[in-house]
Amino acid sequence: MGRERVTILGSTGSIGVSTLDVLARQPDRFEVHALTAHANVERLAEQCLAHRPAVAVMVDREAASALRDLLARAGSGTTVLAGEEALVDAARAPEVDVVMAAIVGAAGLLPTLAGAHAGKRLLLANKESLVMSGALLMDAVTHSGARLLPVDSEHNAIFQCLPAGYTCGESVCPHGAERILLTASGGPFRERPLQSFDAITPNEACAHPNWDMGRKISVDSATMMNKGLEIIEARWLFSLPPEAIEVVLHPQSIVHSMVSYADGSVLAQLGNPDMRTPIAHSLAWPDRMASGVAPLDLLKAGRLEFLPPSQERFPCLELAYRALKAGGTATTILNAANEIAVQAFLDERIRFPTIARLIDLTLAALPVRPADSLDGILAADAEAREYASAWVNAQATAH
Ligand code: NAD
Ligand code: MG
Repeated sequence: MGRERVTILGSTGSIGVSTLDVLARQPDRFEVHALTAHANVERLAEQCLAHRPAVAVMVDREAASALRDLLARAGSGTTVLAGEEALVDAARAPEVDVVMAAIVGAAGLLPTLAGAHAGKRLLLANKESLVMSGALLMDAVTHSGARLLPVDSEHNAIFQCLPAGYTCGESVCPHGAERILLTASGGPFRERPLQSFDAITPNEACAHPNWDMGRKISVDSATMMNKGLEIIEARWLFSLPPEAIEVVLHPQSIVHSMVSYADGSVLAQLGNPDMRTPIAHSLAWPDRMASGVAPLDLLKAGRLEFLPPSQERFPCLELAYRALKAGGTATTILNAANEIAVQAFLDERIRFPTIARLIDLTLAALPVRPADSLDGILAADAEAREYASAWVNAQATAH
C-alpha cells in the first residue's frame, strides 16, 4: 500500500505544527500533499523545505508571491498557490487521502466542508465549522462517505471511550452511553478574584496553565467559551441532546473527557496535555502509533480534582447552552459574535467581561433562522459580525 497523502489546513498554527511533528515520525506511512496558511511566509517556507509538499497555499496573495520567490531561490519543487479557492482545492484534490482541518475560526468552514464533500478522512480540529453549520457538515460527511475523526482533545477522548464500531455522527445512546462529561481546566482565571476581571490583559488571557495554543482559542479557554463551543461540537459529533452533555472542571488536564454508561460505568481517557496524542490517534485510527508524547506518570500527576464550573465566573457556558437549545442559526450567531469580541479584546478595544456581554447582546438582537443552507449560514455569520463590530465601534466612539 502507498503512503497516505495529507493536506494540513492551517499548517503554521499550533495544531498544524504538532501535526507535522507527528507526521515526521511516520515517513513510511504518510506524505504531505499540501500545506496552507494565512500569511506567515517564513514559517510556511521552512515547513515546505522540511516536508516537501507538492502544493503550498497562502490565502494572502502578496504573501503567496513572497513565498514563491523564497522557495524558487531555495530550489524547492513545491507549487505555490494563492487565495481561498486554492485552499478549497487543497482539501478536495483527488490525490489527497487525509485532511487535517486546523484553521482557526469561521475561515476554516469552506475548506473543511470541501474535505467532507470530497469524502476524505477528515481530522477535525476546527470546531468553529461544526458550531457554525453542524447539520450541513455532518450531512456532507454522511452523503460522501467521509470519515470524520475528532482532534479536539475532549471529543477525541470521548471517541476513544466509545465502542469500536461507533461512527461519529451516530447517536451514542444505542451503545448504552447516557451522558458525556467534558472536562475543562478552567483556564488561567479559575481562581482570580471576579472584581479584577476588568483589568485582565490579552497576554494574561493567553497564558494558559496547561496547554500551548493559538491566541483565539487561548482567550476562548479563559472565558470558557471554548467549552461552550465544545458542547455544541459534541452535540453534532455524538448526536446527543444538550442535557446529556455536562462540563466538569478538572484543573490538571489529565482526564481529557468521559462517557457515562447505563450500567453505571464511566470510561475516561487520560494522558499528558499534548495535542500530539489526539492528532496521532486520528491519523492512525483504528491503529495506534507513536506521537512523541511522554508516557503519563500518574504518581507525578498526583491529585486529580473534579469541580463544578461557576456560572457567574463563566457566563459563556450558559450562552452556548442557550444557543444550542435555540437551534437554527443561533450557534452561527454565537460563534461570529465570539470571534468579533475576542479580536476586539485582543486589540484592547473591549474589556474581558465585555466578551460575554457582547455575545449575549448579539444573540438577543438577531433573528434565528433555519440552518439548512450554506447561504443562510454565511448570511447569519455576516449579520452577526456586522452587529457585533458596530457595537464595538460605537463603544470606541462613546469613550
Ligand atoms: P493558530 O492560531 O495557532 O493557527 C491557525 C492557523 O490557521 C494558522 O496556520 C493560520 O495561518 C491559519 N489561518 C488563520 N486565519 C486564516 C484565514 N483567514 N484563512 C486561512 N487560514 C487562516 O490556531 P490553533 O490553536 O492551531 O487552532 C486551530 C483550530 O484548532 C481552532 O479551531 C482551535 O479551536 C482548534 N483546536 C486547537 C487546539 C490547540 O491546542 N491549539 C486544541 C483543540 C482545538
Ligand atoms: Mg478542547
